[in-house]
Order: sequence, then structure tokens, then C-alpha cells
Amino acid sequence: MPKSNFLDNPDIISVFSNRCNGNMSLSYGDTKDSLDNRKRFLKRLGIDYKDLVCAKQIHSNRVEYIKESDRGRGAVSSEDAIDDTDGLISGRSNLALAIFTADCLPVFLYDAKTPAIGMIHAGWRSSKEQISAKAVESMQQRFGTRLGDLYVYFGPCIRNCCNQVGEEFKQYFGDDLINRDNRYYLDLASVNKKQLLDAGLKENNLLDSGFCTFCGNEEFFSYRREEESSGRMISVIMLK
Ligand SMILES: [Zn+2]
Repeated sequence: MPKSNFLDNPDIISVFSNRCNGNMSLSYGDTKDSLDNRKRFLKRLGIDYKDLVCAKQIHSNRVEYIKESDRGRGAVSSEDAIDDTDGLISGRSNLALAIFTADCLPVFLYDAKTPAIGMIHAGWRSSKEQISAKAVESMQQRFGTRLGDLYVYFGPCIRNCCNQVGEEFKQYFGDDLINRDNRYYLDLASVNKKQLLDAGLKENNLLDSGFCTFCGNEEFFSYRREEESSGRMISVIMLK
């Protein structure tokens, strides 16, 4: 079952924080407690907050291969985070990859055979640039990942119930854009799902949390709802 091969898998840690865990970003929202929040959240998982690998996220489709020498980049200061990247992949054990979101889709990837992992920050721009497909391709090139061994999990993001967008999104997403009562809605999860299935992911290997950050705002941060003051949730994946 995909569930036991992903979320409950004893060989990996894959987790996202909630609003109650506090802001996890060192660059956005109220950052004064962010390091303490990270420390507390990660300690429970057995991860040293100083070991985290984070990126300077720029809504691109860039996927970076993370090496042992990258350990700790962006963990204590955003200054030395991996430059201009929205996807991290690695085959190292005990190296925790992190991305930060408030409405964008966190995509967790796990190649159970190699083993190898990936963590993706997929907002609309990155999704338009096919970041999920790009990540799969990067894992295939780097690790020889076979699609039958690949498992994917979608964390919380703004869903089609709430993600109203302008008509100009038609040119980016075509028929994937949902038209409801003459308003347009973008479903980030289904756009990325389509990319992954087109790339060859097995549908049974994809698990979606289904959470909407906007209508689930009590539980999650939502940039759309809170704007500049919004904190960020952390999504982490690590090979044990
Ligand atoms: Zn919603």
C-alpha cells in the first residue's frame, strides 16, 4: 500500500508543520521565534535544527542536488541557504531537506529502492515551469530512480475551493484551469499530479493530504489570507 510505503515508512521522516508550531521562516512573517520554533519541532523528530538544508526559494523550476557538504545551509541563517532553488534532491542519510510554504504546494518524493529523496516548493510559477516533472527527471538522472519505486506525497496548499485566479492564467494552464460561475480557479495539486503521472509515476504511489491552507486557515498559514504577516510552515523529508 502506498500509505505504508510513504508516511508510515520507518526508513524516512516526512512531515509538515502546522500553524500551532509557529513560523518556521527566517525571512518572512514575524521571525523572532522562528529558530526556536524549528528547534522545538525538529527535536521531536530527532533532527538537529542546525543540520537542516534550506533554499532561497524563488518560484523557479530549479532542482538542486544536495551533498554532505551542504549540511546546515540555511539552517541558522537564510544567508547561506542553497541559492535560487525550489527543489532539493539527495541520497544522503540523516540529511534533512526543508522547504517553506504558505499556500504553495509541498511535494515530497521518495525513491524507496535507491534510496533517495526530494522536497519541492510548487507555487503556480514553479508549477507552470513543470517543477514536479523536472524533479523526477533529476532523480532519474542522478540516482537512476525507477518510476515504480517512486512515492509522492502532497502536503497542505491552497486548493481549488479557494484558489481563485485571474483569466490570464488560462494562457499558462489552459484546460487545467477550473471555471466555476465565471470565475477561474487553479488546482495546484491536480496540475502537479498530472505532471507526475505524465512523467510515469504510478497513481497508486501518490498520496495527497488534501488540506487547504486557505479554508483551513485556523490550522495552516495562508499567504492569500494573511498577506505579508503570514508565517511559513516547514516541510521536511529525511532518509534515516
Ligand atoms: Zn479551500
